[in-house]
Amino acid sequence: AQERYADLRGQPAQALCGTTIALSMNAGLMADLPSLEGSGADGVGLFRTELQFLANRSVPKRGDLARLYARVMDAAKGRPVVFRTLDIGSDKVLPYMKRVEEPNPALGWRAIRVGLDRPGIMRMQLQALIRASAGRPLHVMFPFIAQLDEFRTARDMLDREIAHEQSLGHTLPSKVRVGAMVETPSMAFASAAFYAETDFISIGGNDLKQFFFAADRENERVRRRYDTLNVSFLNIVQMIVDRCAEADVPVSFCGEDAGRPLEALALAAIGLRALSMRPASIGPVKHLIRRVDLAEAHDVIAAARARGDQSVRDPLNAWLTDTLT
Ligand code: PEP
Ligand code: MG
Repeated sequence: AQERYADLRGQPAQALCGTTIALSMNAGLMADLPSLEGSGADGVGLFRTELQFLANRSVPKRGDLARLYARVMDAAKGRPVVFRTLDIGSDKVLPYMKRVEEPNPALGWRAIRVGLDRPGIMRMQLQALIRASAGRPLHVMFPFIAQLDEFRTARDMLDREIAHEQSLGHTLPSKVRVGAMVETPSMAFASAAFYAETDFISIGGNDLKQFFFAADRENERVRRRYDTLNVSFLNIVQMIVDRCAEADVPVSFCGEDAGRPLEALALAAIGLRALSMRPASIGPVKHLIRRVDLAEAHDVIAAARARGDQSVRDPLNAWLTDTLT
């Protein structure tokens, strides 16, 4: 499939209206990195750091992690890599952590909640990231931020580790950008202060959608019941995008939907200028974006909203059929 889009590799995802969408890739393994060249991605918008922790029988060593993160940055050749700190939950149990039985694991003790309550592992991971990026930019984001103090505490933790690394005489990153993943509806309603305090926002659409519709993303009975192009869902994403614009904070969308061409088109039409997806999706998404006028797509969505449509899927598809033929 990548071959089909090979000629697009060096081309921007520029729509007919002139707007360009940055397309990055999601990764989680060293083995994913060759796709960076093959797909023509602008960088790694989401590096999931769980696998190195899940694949080990004991906590990975700081030195090993630092070497791996450095190799990931080397492979990106100066393109940004956004590292997400450990996002484990009671469904993704680390073999060396005490198991906690929870009635609702998706709503339970997971991600940043674990990182803040048991800071040892997160601190070690932050040290590894700082050491890996010595002299280079470091982009870190914290998963599952549901209220402002979680972001503040996590950021303080990173600042303390940076000061500590400096006191040890280690070379610091050339710059540090700290972002929050917005994956709970609560953050769409957060005060402007939250957005102003972040360096960037990444919308975790997989989790945001499951919490927005109260539909378990792992449950086949309900997983596909609610359309991502449902007007209500687009409205909450739009709210987040608008808050970021007000605060002048860059925002991207990194859920699976970013890799589906029609969904990606809708996200771009409502204002997202950066999407992160699996590498194989970059070609198809770019191909579609380059053939459409986003302002027109925006009007199609606005009309569907005004009519009271439940979803913009049918009108968008109808317009696409029209505009592409
Ligand atoms: C998301 O929730 O959209 C996301 C990108 O994170 P994950 O799929 O790893 O939960
Ligand atoms: Mg998530």
